[in-house]
Amino acid sequence: MSSVLRIALQKSGRLSEDSYQLFKECGIRFDYGTGKLKSISSNFPAEFLFLRDDDIPGYVEDGVADLGIVGENVAVETNRQVNTIHKLGFSKCRLSIAILRGNDWSGIQDLEGKNIATSYPNLLGTYLASQGVTANIHEISGSVEIAPSIGLAEAVCDIVSSGSTLLSNGLKEVETIFRSEAILIARPELPAEKQTLVDKLLFRIKAVQVAKN
Ligand code: ATP
Ligand code: ZN
Repeated sequence: MSSVLRIALQKSGRLSEDSYQLFKECGIRFDYGTGKLKSISSNFPAEFLFLRDDDIPGYVEDGVADLGIVGENVAVETNRQVNTIHKLGFSKCRLSIAILRGNDWSGIQDLEGKNIATSYPNLLGTYLASQGVTANIHEISGSVEIAPSIGLAEAVCDIVSSGSTLLSNGLKEVETIFRSEAILIARPELPAEKQTLVDKLLFRIKAVQVAKN
């Protein structure tokens, strides 16, 4: 049986449109947005799976998918055994610490002993440890920005792109701890015939990127 690459993409969110567009520009056709959870390409040996972004590294590690597109922030936070094979240049954002706008800031040591709300406890924990700061990390899965104004935490650590969400929640960005963009990840041990398909795909992706620059 000839092999088919299984590629996991975010179903709907800030990675989706550019991920779909990338394959379109590579000349790989498939249906999406129909509510279906998977779709087979009509002109390339690939099957696409539409998932929540947080689940993609785990599916790729387990070999349910051969490839996936996620933000580097999610790839690092989930800490799965996957290979980053290419940086894609879209969905650029940063993970930053923010505090209430009226509060003073003299440096990361201000957070010693404080409470910080985040959806990225591993990335934040690693950063604080590297700075020699001990703080209480509270993991929250959504609406992190409201934590300071309701007294749940003195600071947040969250994804920022324009900063408008921080502003509208009365927060100011004080320290960037991680910079992210979309990446293509692969399962650790690809069979040779799938690796050949990955090489073909990478060749097309690089050609698309060169044409854009
Ligand atoms: P899902 O429902 O799939 O779990 P989500 O709400 O967790 O989605 P999104 O907000 O769609 O995730 O963000 C997906 C990824 O896009 C993030 O992990 C990050 O890498 C990147 N991202 C997040 N916010 C922005 C932004 N404002 N601008 C650009 N990229 C962003
Ligand atoms: Zn998510």
